[in-house]
Parts: sequence; structure tokens; C-alpha cells
Amino acid sequence: MVKMNRQTSLDKISTVDTWDIIIIGGGATGMGIALDATTRGLKTLLVEKGDLANGTSSRSTKLVHGGVRYLKQFHFKLVFEAIKERKIILKNAPHLSSALPFIIPIYSYFNMLYYGIGLFLYEMLAGWGSNIGRTTLLSRKSTINNLPFIKTKNLKGGILYYDAQFNDSQLCIDIAATATNNDATIINYFECADFIKSNEKVIGIQGVDRLSQKKYTIKGKNIINATGVFSDTILQMDDPKKSSIIKPSKGVHLVFNDPGKTLTKYALMSPIKQDDRVIFVIPWMGKLLVGTTDTPIEKITTEPAASMEDVAYLLYLYNSLSENKIDKNSVVSMFAGLRPLIKLSDEDATALISREHSILTSASGIITIAGGKWTTYRKMAEDVMELVIANQKLPNSKCKTEYISVDISAVKNKTIESYILSDKSLAEKIHPAFSFTKAQVVYAIQHEMAMTIEDVLARRIRLLFLDAKAAIEAAKEVAKIFVNYANKEDEQMKEQMVAFEKIANKYLLN
Ligand SMILES: Cc1cc2nc3c(=O)[nH]c(=O)nc-3n(C[C@H](O)[C@H](O)[C@H](O)COP(=O)(O)OP(=O)(O)OC[C@H]3O[C@@H](n4cnc5c(N)ncnc54)[C@H](O)[C@@H]3O)c2cc1C
Repeated sequence: MVKMNRQTSLDKISTVDTWDIIIIGGGATGMGIALDATTRGLKTLLVEKGDLANGTSSRSTKLVHGGVRYLKQFHFKLVFEAIKERKIILKNAPHLSSALPFIIPIYSYFNMLYYGIGLFLYEMLAGWGSNIGRTTLLSRKSTINNLPFIKTKNLKGGILYYDAQFNDSQLCIDIAATATNNDATIINYFECADFIKSNEKVIGIQGVDRLSQKKYTIKGKNIINATGVFSDTILQMDDPKKSSIIKPSKGVHLVFNDPGKTLTKYALMSPIKQDDRVIFVIPWMGKLLVGTTDTPIEKITTEPAASMEDVAYLLYLYNSLSENKIDKNSVVSMFAGLRPLIKLSDEDATALISREHSILTSASGIITIAGGKWTTYRKMAEDVMELVIANQKLPNSKCKTEYISVDISAVKNKTIESYILSDKSLAEKIHPAFSFTKAQVVYAIQHEMAMTIEDVLARRIRLLFLDAKAAIEAAKEVAKIFVNYANKEDEQMKEQMVAFEKIANKYLLN
């Protein structure tokens, strides 16, 4: 039984005098810390101002990867650590992650040697323990067989290597459910609006329930800032003079229906000469994901959107690799996310900034963790908790998360089946072109803290990311389920539908 319920969390806030840990931010980083802290037996509260994983953690390329391209920058330790974490995610979340074969198409013998050596090294770094597939040189013929859309002129062959892919926001939600089942208190739509201090040290937060506007004063022994690109806002809430540590960069993905013979089980990875980046073309949940851009930005927003330049750039890259040309009419969804990169200096191009994480402790005692990547969320959490324990003399304890499964699929499927047994109509689909059922929506509302149509369609069921138009069409069905299963008023749901359509339009090109 998954115990996650927003009202229960709200009620629990007032029953605890002082929390051992208060985590601000419900993305991958914060959720990893919540699971780590609670399974060490600490009184753990996580507050998220929007929905769980609504920030960068639902907008990734959906790869669990060692970061093969960091080898070029000789970041061996970073790659080694990420490969180990890749294996742990595959073990602890097998329901949401799987190994994925990648092919780099090769157009010169020099590149065959260059990338071949790099990828054999990548496999070696995984060693016996973390290896998930053999790196292999492919002939021209088998490269074309496996990637039937690939440009054939001058093609010499390919290199096959392995990484993994996952469902990012759903993993965050399942980590939240596992943390809740282990006694953590997790709450969405609950903002840290200010800090409470004593002798210049932070001793708690002022929280605001964004659904009722009720204010809460919450005391905590340790306050963790895990707000990703919003880290500076929190740091400056504590000390207005604090200079910024985040250098945000926008990454855009396009989602396509199969434009011909493109969709195979193989993903394509290809280095882009002109800007030291790579392009990914990845089969994901029956669609094709193409990404990503890397554009430094000034303004951080909760709903970053793709620009026409982003779209044109990705179409150009895809078409320069493919015999099957696509245009903007083939785009069924697109999404943008902000990388919480740690600032080096203004001259550094964001593509070259290491994704390694940093942990800072402010004079008032707030611990900020930022940077890193989804793949290393568990290790980032362990590092923070080791620091917290060393700093604050909380009882010493060992990190257990390497051995904690977050696979709650058996319980989830059983609950969904039981809904359908008691009401056959819940087996109906919410959209004719997709297999998602009404019962899944009920589950999202009752056990995954979905409060809005967008929470359901963007981060539980991924329809908004898979096909934005279909998501708009399904919104009415989802609204009806909120009325029937969450006691929402028709009027309220009409407002939500308008709000959802406005957001969904940002995922649509036309
Ligand atoms: C385009 C792109 C592609 C990527 N692809 C990959 C990939 O394939 N694999 C990989 O491993 N990594 C990838 N990453 C990196 C990875 O997605 C991020 O490192 C990770 O999601 C960051 O998680 P986070 O929890 O730190 O930040 P977020 O997910 O942004 O979470 C921070 C949260 O804090 C909340 N918050 C802010 N202020 C407050 C407040 N005052 N009170 C309460 N809550 C607050 C926000 O609402 C937000 O939900 C990618 C990143 C981008 C941008």
C-alpha cells in the first residue's frame, strides 16, 4: 500500500516540533535526500512549491548514463561514479529503467579509431560489476540495418555501446512514495517563503500551503536547499548579498511520431562538430526523442519554453543525419528544461561546465546542493547526508539507499486492477490513441498526490510529453475523474482545463 497523501502530510507537519531535516525542493536531488534521510531513521520533511518533479527533473533526456562525452575532458572519476549509479538505478528501479543500445554512426576511419578507443574505455570503466552490454564495432551494413534512417553517403560503419533510459518524473514520484512508506513527510504545492533564525542561524522555515494560502512555521535542525536552478533565490532569501552560484542553461527536446523507418530499438548518438556537443535520437515510450540544445539563459522561469531557433536547430541537426527528412509538422510535443550548472566564470561555455555536483554551507547553516545529474541523485543525497551527520552531530548512521528498491509497480498494478474490478468503466482509455486508462488517473489522484490535470498528464501519465494535442483532448476526461474521485467542483475543473491548455500550448509547435 502506498501511503502518499497530501492531507496526511499537511496534518503531520503540525504534530512534529522539530524536524531533523527539512528539504526544500522536490526534484531528483531533494527526493533522493528525503529517501536517504528517512531510511537513516531521521525525522524528514520535504516541501515542494509546485508539483513533484515539475522542474528540471521531468524535462531530462531520460538517460541513465555515465556521461561518455566527459571522457573527452578526462573526467574519469565523474564517469566511473555515474556508471556505478546507473547500475544501482537499473537494480532498484527495474520497472522504470532499462539498458539502451546506442550507435554512433562513423563517417571517417579516424573517427572509428577515436570513438572506438573512447567507448572501449567507457566499457572498461564499468568493469565487470557495472557493465550492461558489450561495445562493438559495426560494419556499414549492420549500422544501416539497425538505424535504417541513417545517412548512408560516406558511412563507414558504427560503434555500438550501452547506456540506459528511464521515466524521469515517475521515478521521482516512486522515490517519494518509497520515502513516504519509510515515514518521510513529503508535500507538494508547499513553498518555503522565508527562514526563521536565531542568533543568525537558520532554525526553520516559513512555509505557505499554495492551495489554501495557510502559513506554517516549521522548525528543523538541518535545512537543505535542493532547489536546482532556484538555488540562488533560496540563498538570497537567507542573505540578500549572496552572489549567484548557478549558471542556468536551457535544453530543448523535440518529440516525433515515427517519420517512416526511424523507430528501432537502437538510439543514435552523434557528436556535433561545430559546438562540441552531441545529439541524441532516442526511442522513448513509442515516440522518438531528439535533443538537446544548450543555451545559456539569464531569466529563470518555472515554465521554460522552446524558441523557434531551438526547433530549427534540432530539425537541422536531425535532418543532417537522416535520409528521412522531417519538418516541424512532425513534432508532436516539445519541452525545455533548465540545467542547474554550477558557475565557474563568465567566460566558460555552458557545454564545457562539468555536471558534477557541489555542496555549500552558508554562514547561517543552510546546506545547498546543486549541479550533478539525475543519474547520480542517490550519490548526491549520500554526500549531503554524510555532511549533515558530520556537521550537526545527528546520530551516526549508514546510508542504505544502495539497497532500497523503489519498485512499487506490483502494489500499483494491483490497486489499479482493483479499481477496475469495482468499476469496469475505469478500464476505458483517456485517449483513443494511447493505452492510458481512467484507472491510472484515479491512482495518480489517490496515491501519487496529483492535484491538477497537469500533474496527471505531465508527470504521472506522460501524455503531455508524448503528444501535447492528445493531452489537451484527454484533459476533459481527467477533469471528470477529479470531480468524481477528488470531490472537485465542476467550476474549479473548468478553470484547471483553461490553465492546462495554456501550459500545453507551450509543448505544441503549431
Ligand atoms: C535538457 C536537460 C537534459 C538532461 N538530461 C539528463 C539525462 O538524460 N540524464 C541525467 O542523468 N541528467 C540529465 N539532466 C540533468 C538532470 O535532469 C538534473 O540534474 C536534475 O533533474 C536536477 O534535479 P534537481 O532536483 O536538482 O532540480 P529540479 O528538478 O529543478 O528540482 C528543484 C525543485 O525545487 C523546487 N523549489 C524551488 N524553489 C522552492 C521553494 N521556495 N520552496 C519549495 N520548493 C522550491 C522547484 O519547484 C523544483 O521542483 C538533464 C538536464 C536538462 C536541463
